[in-house]
Amino acid sequence: MRPMSFYRSKLEAIFLVAILFGLTAPAQGPAKKWMTQWEPAKLVNGSPVLFRVTAPLQLEDLRGNFLGQEFSFRPSEACRCWYGFAGVSLTTKPGAYTLRVEGKGPSGKEAAMSYLVRVSAAHYPTSALKVAPGFVEPPKETAPRIEEEQAEKKKVFSTSAPEALWSGRFEPPAAAEVSGVFGSARVFNGVKKSRHTGLDFRVTTGTPIVAANSGTVILARPLYFEGNCVMIDHGQGLLTMYLHLSEFKVKEGEAVKRGQILGLSGGTGRATAPHLHFAVRWRGEYLDPRTLLELHPPAK
Ligand SMILES: [Zn+2]
Repeated sequence: MRPMSFYRSKLEAIFLVAILFGLTAPAQGPAKKWMTQWEPAKLVNGSPVLFRVTAPLQLEDLRGNFLGQEFSFRPSEACRCWYGFAGVSLTTKPGAYTLRVEGKGPSGKEAAMSYLVRVSAAHYPTSALKVAPGFVEPPKETAPRIEEEQAEKKKVFSTSAPEALWSGRFEPPAAAEVSGVFGSARVFNGVKKSRHTGLDFRVTTGTPIVAANSGTVILARPLYFEGNCVMIDHGQGLLTMYLHLSEFKVKEGEAVKRGQILGLSGGTGRATAPHLHFAVRWRGEYLDPRTLLELHPPAK
């Protein structure tokens, strides 16, 4: 811990103590107070985050700002609270960051509150992999295809509905054990290339792969690295991706429900063996899919 003098005020220090328990309530104000909770209780770089807020007054809407990203909250009868989805990028440094929430009451009265939210450093492992040499250094003749696909992906990544299309918990896309975690540094054929930006499931070819939550299929086509790939838009910048499939069961533009079969698993694209690579993208950043699956959004 840093010395007390580091913090701008005693109040901030009180917040930080409360933050350790993933729960804060400001020490002043009317009898009914602002309350904010978040999941997971310990945030790290690469975490998806679910914020829940209760306000001291009836609100018509609620917006949040965290790590430079604006996001909106939804009201829930189940929790009698507002909940909103945000993320901490892989490159975010450990520290205390401000969550600002702002809402409007029935008479148009603005209400706002700020919290300090601590982000710790994640400890991601390093793993060595062997793949066909063509995938580490793709052959020259594949360059136009790879370039074209990068442009297509960029376009697809920027496609997201303005409203949230998902609700309730996110479901694992395959009933199988995890064979590769998010965030591990990947050394391909002895050369460090990148971090693993998804969660791998150990599945043989032909296993049904299902949608983690409801949304719209924004991509369902073969790609050089990803193989047969399905991307689902869950709205407001949240996407899930399902890679290396052997078969598609959905088409681009189709609306899907949580648990709906998207395709069958396989080993197409850059895969050492058949498996499912499941990735979560939010506003241009890959987030840890395992954390997403562990969140408890209200049922309605
Ligand atoms: Zn993977």
